[in-house]
Amino acid sequence: MPGFEMIGEEERAAVNEIFDDGGVLFRHGFDAFRKGGRFRVVEFERAVAQRIGARYGLALSSGTMTLKVALKILGIGPGDEVITQAFTFIATVEAIVDAGATPVVVNVDRTLNMDPVELEAKITPKTRAIMPVHMLGVAARMDEILAIARRRNLPVIEDNCESLGATYGGKSLGTLGDIGAFSFDFGKVITTGEGGLLATDNEEYYKLAQEYQDHGHENNPKFPRGRDTHRIHGFNCRMGELQGAVGMAQLKKLDYIVAQNRKHYAVLEEDLRSIGKLTFREVPAQCQSLCDALIFHVPKQELALEFAKRMSEKGIGTKNLPDAMEWHFAGYWDHIFKHFGMSKGQLWASVLPSYELLSRAVSVPIMVKYTPERIDHIASSIRQIASDLL
Ligand SMILES: *Cc1c(COP(=O)(O)O)cnc(C)c1O
Repeated sequence: MPGFEMIGEEERAAVNEIFDDGGVLFRHGFDAFRKGGRFRVVEFERAVAQRIGARYGLALSSGTMTLKVALKILGIGPGDEVITQAFTFIATVEAIVDAGATPVVVNVDRTLNMDPVELEAKITPKTRAIMPVHMLGVAARMDEILAIARRRNLPVIEDNCESLGATYGGKSLGTLGDIGAFSFDFGKVITTGEGGLLATDNEEYYKLAQEYQDHGHENNPKFPRGRDTHRIHGFNCRMGELQGAVGMAQLKKLDYIVAQNRKHYAVLEEDLRSIGKLTFREVPAQCQSLCDALIFHVPKQELALEFAKRMSEKGIGTKNLPDAMEWHFAGYWDHIFKHFGMSKGQLWASVLPSYELLSRAVSVPIMVKYTPERIDHIASSIRQIASDLL
């Protein structure tokens, strides 16, 4: 997720232009102060929507708020269950809990995303939405998940905060379900510092989301903003013009970022596969992944931890696994297990199959600016560690 690697003169120029154009930092109005008449957030959301092939894009303050807005506009709240997966960033579950609903976590399969078989088994009369997450650049098994959702008449919110640029069956992730959530925080594929985007083809969802993120404003063209009409209560999680401008500069670099990731990944993967002792994360056949992390498994957790330690000694970090598993695996979330309607022991027992896979995974970050020498160093270091440990 290397947008931060690409922060440069283009982003600086885009921000400076705002000040040259009158310095309007707010998404709406102030037309008289906008020399050039530009609305950066609107430009950014239209460009992202076009890039991913969604009818509507709505920029928001964060990916987490995007997930929460998605739940809100679907009318999800107390008494409802929302199904997501045991391996995700904690924000997915925070959004469900904050909406007042009960999170239900399904184990991940070898794709390290939602297991569709367990998904179907966990649907109850209280289930109101399915929230698959495309973790670390790879799609969940969307054919199976969408078929189940259709059969059960449940909306699908894709948490695609991590995988802008990846596709499934030729379509951008985040545009396969009813609503897609994207993040532009500082660790993501492209970054606006903080930011998110809700993508949908559904006009009513788009309108409701627009109203909810802006205190209920309908932006009724018949009235000035101060006399605007409203039909729902809202909130404020708007994106501002500074982020919109930076986002446009970053978006122009997305194709390059993805191409570099894929190039570096291919070289590293070929080398690591020839070691023969590692097993690799499965990628669904329909998925062209973002390739920003290369994940392999070793036989036991102790070996994964030792692997990461030795990589670190050679100046090579890991990405989420194992270094940040605490924030990405539901079994560790003692502080919110009560919201799952389970005891700590029950929650842990229910996610053991995910633990089995995740605890012995090593995730190698793929960066845009890797040189051939750097990739060589990573490959030969991993080869050496594998030969010492396995
Ligand atoms: C980053 C992330 C989020 C939250 O995005 P923010 O913009 O940081 O709020 C949600 N889900 C996943 C899977 C993420 O990786």
